[in-house]
Amino acid sequence: MKALENKREKQEEFPEMSMRQRADIRARKRKKQLRLRWIIMNSIIALCIILGVLVVKAISLNRENTRKEAAKEAAAEKKKNAAKQTPVPTATPTPAPVGSERWLRKDLDPSKPMIAMTFDDGPYSPVTEKILDVFEQNNGKATFFCVGSRVSEYASSVQRAYNMGCEIASHTYSHVYLTRLKAKGIKKEQNKTNKAIRNIIGCEPTALRPPGGFVNAKVRKNMKVPMICWSVDSEDWKSRNTKKVLKRCKKLEDGDIVLMHDLYPTTAKAVKKLVPRLVKQGFQLVTVDELFYYKGIPIKAGELHFSGK
Ligand SMILES: [Zn+2]
Repeated sequence: MKALENKREKQEEFPEMSMRQRADIRARKRKKQLRLRWIIMNSIIALCIILGVLVVKAISLNRENTRKEAAKEAAAEKKKNAAKQTPVPTATPTPAPVGSERWLRKDLDPSKPMIAMTFDDGPYSPVTEKILDVFEQNNGKATFFCVGSRVSEYASSVQRAYNMGCEIASHTYSHVYLTRLKAKGIKKEQNKTNKAIRNIIGCEPTALRPPGGFVNAKVRKNMKVPMICWSVDSEDWKSRNTKKVLKRCKKLEDGDIVLMHDLYPTTAKAVKKLVPRLVKQGFQLVTVDELFYYKGIPIKAGELHFSGK
């Protein structure tokens, strides 16, 4: 009954319109409503996307800021700690042979810069003695990487160096490149040198410098002591020129290990000028064992080290 009345009312609303015209109007109205709904929906979606993007950006910005702050804090903490810490002396893990404590003084100042001067291929008394004179006068210590086959001939220089507190180390028995040898040969080169040195000073070396600095896995595996190379090469063997040697040693730094050879008079002359200069600059002239001890760098048998930096 009610539906019939509604129909009648609608017909009265548009009395002059035909059925088709009324349908057209209704269709247009529906179309308009649909378009409106489509616009609203799209607007909502667009708004959601914009909001999403903004949220993601805000989160990442926040994260970055947190990260930056954390990095800043860590850097500040590190700086604080570095300023607080002075190198802590540590004992070398390699068991030290009795007698080697002579070349490891325990009363040095760890906060003062240190340099380890090292002399290879000797001993050779005419030069070694001159170098020892300089270190004696300046209360400095050095390390002598001796060739085993030479030590008995120049035993008095080896003994003097040891008595002075210098380190007597190994440079193999015959100055052969260890990388060319088999395990047996590598061991023999060490044992023969150790014996020759022990016969003079009563204790064995705690460090070895491989001739030429050449090392491979087999050498590492069969090495009884740490291997010490160098960070500054004076090239004294090449130039045989005092001035050139001094030039190569012009910018020495804390922790450097300097390579020289106690075979050449030009090297002894360079040492005579260089050592007092370094002492004046505030450097402590130490043995290689002392350098690693005071820099807190543990050195193990078979390892290769180049400096105390
Ligand atoms: Zn050599």
